[in-house]
Amino acid sequence: GYRARSAYKLQQLDEEANLMDEGDTVIDLGAAPGGWLQVAKEKVGDSGTVVGVDLQRIDELDGVETIRGDMTEEKTREKVHETVGSADVVLSDMAPNMTGEYSLDHARSVYLARQAFETALEMLDSGGDFVAKVFQGPDLDDLRADVEDEFEYVRTMSPEASRDESSEVYLVARGYLTAPVEAGD
Ligand code: SAM
Repeated sequence: GYRARSAYKLQQLDEEANLMDEGDTVIDLGAAPGGWLQVAKEKVGDSGTVVGVDLQRIDELDGVETIRGDMTEEKTREKVHETVGSADVVLSDMAPNMTGEYSLDHARSVYLARQAFETALEMLDSGGDFVAKVFQGPDLDDLRADVEDEFEYVRTMSPEASRDESSEVYLVARGYLTAPVEAGD
C-alpha cells in the first residue's frame, strides 16, 4: 500500500496529464512521508531516478534518494542540484503548517509554490513538466500567469481525492520552454 492517501492524487494527475514516463528523472518537493515518491518510482521504473526533499525525515524507500532540507533555503536547492543535474519532472506537494487563517495559509502556500517554480526553472530540461499544490485565493492568478510564460500550457486541476479536503488545487504545467544555459559554454 501507499504511505499516504495523497498518492492517489498524483496517480490521477498523472493519468490525466501524462507527466511521468519510464526512465524519467523526477524531483518531488515536500515528499514526506513518501506516497508520491512511491507512485513516481512505479512510473519511472528501475531506469528512472526519483529524488524526494522534505523538512521531515523520509523513511528509506527502495530506489529513491531523499534529502532532508528546507526548500526556501538556497543550500537545499544546491543539494538537489548536486544530487541530479537536471530533471524531466518537478513535483511539489509542499504545504505550510495550517493556521486556519485563510489569507495567511493562502499566502504561505503561494510562497512555497513559487519556491518550487524557481526550482523547476533551475532544474527542468526543455519540454519538462511541473506540478505544484496551491491553496486557492487572490494570488493564484498571478502565479498561474507567471507559470504560463514558461510552459507550453498550464491547467489548474483538482483531483478527486482533494475535493472533500480543502481549497487546494494543483497547477499542472507541461512542456518547459527553455532549457537552462550550460555553465562554461
Ligand atoms: N506528497 C506527500 C506524500 O504523498 O507523502 C505528502 C506531502 S505533505 C501534504 C506536505 C509536506 O510539505 C510536508 O511533509 C511538509 O514537511 C513539507 N514542506 C512544507 N514546507 C516545506 C519546505 N519549506 N521545504 C521542504 N518541505 C516542506
